[in-house]
Amino acid sequence: MADSIRTTCPYCGVGCGVLVSKDNAGGVVVKGDPDHPANFGKLCSKGAALGDTLGQDNRLLTPKINHQVATWEQASDLVAARFKETVERYGPDSVAFYVSGQLLSEDYYVANKLIKGFIGTANIDTNSRLCMSSSVAGHKRAFGSDTVPQTYEDLETSDLVVLVGSNLAWCHPILFQRLKAAKKKRGTKVVVIDPRKTATCEIADLHLAIKPGSDVLLFNGLLSYLDQNGAKDQSYVAAFVEGLEETLHATAVDILSVAKGCDVSVADVLAFYDGFLKTDRTLSVYSQGVNQSSQGTDKVNSIINCHLFTGRIGREGCGPLSVTGQPNAMGGREVGGLANMLAAHMDFTPDDIDRVSRFWQAQNIAKEPGKKALDMFEAIHEGQIKAVWIMATNPCVSLPDAGRVREALEKCDFVVVSDCVDHTDTMAYADVVLPAAAWGERNGTVTNTERRISRQRAFCDLAGEARPDWKIITQVARKMGFEEAFPYESSYDVFHEHVALSAFENQGRRDFDLSGWIDLSRAGFDEIEPTQWPVGTYAKDRFFGDGRFYTASGKGNMVPVQPKSPVYPVTADYPYVLNSGRIRDQWHTMTRTGLSPRLSTHVIEPYLEVHPEAALCEGLLDGGLVEVTSNWGRAILRVKISENMKRGEVFMPMHWSDENSAEAVVGRLVNPVCDPYSGQPESKHTPVCLKPFAAD
Ligand code: SF4
Repeated sequence: MADSIRTTCPYCGVGCGVLVSKDNAGGVVVKGDPDHPANFGKLCSKGAALGDTLGQDNRLLTPKINHQVATWEQASDLVAARFKETVERYGPDSVAFYVSGQLLSEDYYVANKLIKGFIGTANIDTNSRLCMSSSVAGHKRAFGSDTVPQTYEDLETSDLVVLVGSNLAWCHPILFQRLKAAKKKRGTKVVVIDPRKTATCEIADLHLAIKPGSDVLLFNGLLSYLDQNGAKDQSYVAAFVEGLEETLHATAVDILSVAKGCDVSVADVLAFYDGFLKTDRTLSVYSQGVNQSSQGTDKVNSIINCHLFTGRIGREGCGPLSVTGQPNAMGGREVGGLANMLAAHMDFTPDDIDRVSRFWQAQNIAKEPGKKALDMFEAIHEGQIKAVWIMATNPCVSLPDAGRVREALEKCDFVVVSDCVDHTDTMAYADVVLPAAAWGERNGTVTNTERRISRQRAFCDLAGEARPDWKIITQVARKMGFEEAFPYESSYDVFHEHVALSAFENQGRRDFDLSGWIDLSRAGFDEIEPTQWPVGTYAKDRFFGDGRFYTASGKGNMVPVQPKSPVYPVTADYPYVLNSGRIRDQWHTMTRTGLSPRLSTHVIEPYLEVHPEAALCEGLLDGGLVEVTSNWGRAILRVKISENMKRGEVFMPMHWSDENSAEAVVGRLVNPVCDPYSGQPESKHTPVCLKPFAAD
């Protein structure tokens, strides 16, 4: 190994740069990369513990067919043959890929090309559907494109940062540290909007513990207040914004109604509104608390409306900033890893279909969007999809109504799982498992929340017979008869094609454009510095500050949105709202972070956080056990009584699975409903009931 290898953390969407070097005992030392513009040398607890998660413990080392060791030839022959047969017999829509924000952009690109371009169905979706798809849909409605206009530096140049549904301190710790430092240095005001009092409230000047799901009402009220107090940016709105009058008319609401509907005091609502009104440099940062909702897209647009109205967008320190959960959620969006997108930020319009099919020379390209995550697993359950390939994700834990997802996979004719670990709840249902390369073994690119493309670089040998995902998919594609379209010998070959497609007949008309990439040679790829797009020919400092949007009219679009109740409200039988989310030191289903003893000391077991009044009412004791039941399943958890909870709301971490703690799978409880525009599940609002649980 060179003295140190520059790579990127594989956990959250902050995308921190990491330096890896060898220690004297044959292990590795992991440090923050001081030259990476996301983290400037810092790492959070998860990133700092990356060295603990390497090695061959819990790794899948060989392909397996029906749980028996097989060769790559046997396994890939079988996967190709079964997918081909299924398509020939039942048509292209009878197969599906369910992929992951853990994949590198090159892996994602090849998977998307195979299924959309050559198999001929858009039945490919990603676990990023659970992460930020409401932001994607909101961006498209407002901007005409899925463009994140702001950057991390805005956290440091803003005077007011509004954190909506975001526990930045635990979920994006390095961004939280940057904000905390900015607050100390320049006195940035911070408003936290979240039903829970989270660790992020440590730096809050104001915490609005709103009623779960009432965000649209709060931001509609803000828009009315801004209008009444003359905050419209007359020239910006006149030149660059449409939908103003109908939005103002449809969303008008007074402060008293807002305070009542959001269950917060008038004084607090007024303090927030007044701060927003008077602070030009206001940044709204939002995350899963906004996105994971049956009204997630409307919530996003209610926030963006306020920024368009005040012309506070695409300028230093002000605008809307959606922070992604996954390390490559943004890269997946770029290559079209969602069922409703084509590659390179293109859509299923006749022009885009034609452009991509000519570029790929794909006669059989999908002509319409495929099934989004929840619909995909329902179609598997109903027998419409008969073969599925699940890559680097664990839907038996993470998807809502996980019991039904398990039933679907049990019934499915042919299930393939490719992953780097040897056991997941999902793997139990696989006919074929394929060993994928893990972090430290693979080469490629990821894109973080602020559109910055960084390299992941290999610094150790592949474990056993593991292979990079792009290579596994390429092998299957060739065996399905698509040799010419999948000539890749390295991730560089894939990246090169991805860049070329982004520029193909584009000329700056679309936001995602990598034309003019500084050095597209092999050596240039090896040396890529963290780079924000667009680059080269159509590079610009900011999106939308110049008033140029990607809608048909070229204007930013204000969207009239109305508050709606969650699909399943609480009832007398299920009187509490279950919220779910991350804890500080674990990542997703703990397949990697669970290997680190120091990370496991932060929270040692699954728990349910409950307000003291609810505990009293239900006879729950702090440290005792509670049985949590929803219409869809149940869990047994340790009780943690906390004043940080809002009355009527309970919180459960999302990380535990049957693999490490039976009966603590959050997905078994969560209601299977989603946002009508984005398809993002409502993972933060499921009615549940509670009762003390006594172990036998
Ligand atoms: Fe990794 Fe996110 Fe922590 Fe950075 S903030 S070190 S990307 S987990």
